[in-house]
Amino acid sequence: MDLTTYAELAVLLVNGSGRLESLEGLRALLHESGRGALAARATRADLDAMRGLRDELVTIFEHADAGDDEAAVERLNGLLVRHPIHPQISGHDGERWHLHLTEGGRISDQYTVGCVMGLAALVTDLGVDRLGLCRAAPCRRAFLDTSSNRSRRYCSERCSSRANVAAYRARKRSVAV
Ligand SMILES: [Zn+2]
Ligand SMILES: [Zn+2]
Repeated sequence: MDLTTYAELAVLLVNGSGRLESLEGLRALLHESGRGALAARATRADLDAMRGLRDELVTIFEHADAGDDEAAVERLNGLLVRHPIHPQISGHDGERWHLHLTEGGRISDQYTVGCVMGLAALVTDLGVDRLGLCRAAPCRRAFLDTSSNRSRRYCSERCSSRANVAAYRARKRSVAV
């Protein structure tokens, strides 16, 4: 598993904001992220910490989307300082040796470390402009642009076709006037 794949945790948290309204919601989010085994141990303190993390991540995506690389990186570095990482080399299921992140400590810490290392790896491998927010207003869901030509604008196929339809109607209107 490549560290950049951990960046999906950040997207899941930003887009699953509604999930942070209750502990049950947080547990559902953990299941969705493939961390179902942790769900039963989640506490109120984790919920508070995850809300704080969500706000930080939203700000990082906003800076990145606005083209302010420096501000996005500064925020990410702040998170890296506050959440020290203890990586382990792992080789299971016939995979080659690869890095795993800490699997101890509080659930919110584990999740945070995953988000932060994932984003740090993605940003340093591919660039800050790979973090985006959907352009199909009012959506603004986060996404990772892993396309080869950095052309991604929307969070999903659904938003992409909605935006295309809106653009088509706008063109038709302007022709009609
Ligand atoms: Zn692994
Ligand atoms: Zn969208």
